[in-house]
Amino acid sequence: MTLLRIEDATKSFGGLIAVNHVTFDVAEGEILGLLGPNGSGKTTLINLISRALPITAGEIYLHDQKLTGKRADQVARIGVSRTFQLVRILPSLSLVENVMIPAVFGSEGQSIDKGREIANNCLERVGLQHRTDALAADLTYIDQKRLELARALASNPSLLLLDEWLAGLNPTELKQGIELIRSLSTSGMTIIMVEHIMEAVRALCPRVVVMNSGRLIADEKTAAALSDPAVIAAYLGEVDDA
Ligand code: ADP
Ligand code: MG
Repeated sequence: MTLLRIEDATKSFGGLIAVNHVTFDVAEGEILGLLGPNGSGKTTLINLISRALPITAGEIYLHDQKLTGKRADQVARIGVSRTFQLVRILPSLSLVENVMIPAVFGSEGQSIDKGREIANNCLERVGLQHRTDALAADLTYIDQKRLELARALASNPSLLLLDEWLAGLNPTELKQGIELIRSLSTSGMTIIMVEHIMEAVRALCPRVVVMNSGRLIADEKTAAALSDPAVIAAYLGEVDDA
């Protein structure tokens, strides 16, 4: 069954078309890789789905609900949650407070006590249960990433959007990160992950969509996409492979 439907999505910034007539579906429970060289429009597409940015043309549906035209907080309540390419946490608050905020104000709209319980659960899911009262500012980089993921989980999303969530981890942390994403997927969550680390894409994503200069250039099984000449050419044309 289809969870997310992106129909002819287009986003322009002045004369630049960052997302250009993109169409694809994501099935319920799927874990989809969103690939493409830097500047190809991946983060912009994530911003369109989460409604961090208004769409220029086209429609996006979650089940039968139109996301286009809704505000970001409404889209969060409908069940879309995301992490950011540059980690966003609240450094002066404790871990449990960081996660309580989306639990209380997100889709579930929980009481403070219930919010605390959800926060503790989410922190446990990401492996931070031993540090719930620590200050977010004191976390290492991977733990900040775990915390941001816990915040995204707090609203109990049906669709989780990860924007290079695995970037910047060392090889041991990368393995842990892959297992963590796998565990979310196994629990039934639908995930779209923007990712440059092909080891992670191969390990987690049966299917990928590939963007280049705003356009979708591939939508196929991962192994086929990674040997697709159009995809290889797009990556070879990349000058700044961060
Ligand atoms: P990716 O995530 O694939 O690296 P982005 O979606 O961040 O790519 O960017 C796609 C293009 O859109 C780039 O040329 C970028 O400079 C441009 N862009 C992204 N966000 C904005 C914005 N808010 N205003 C103007 N241009 C933007
Ligand atoms: Mg990006």
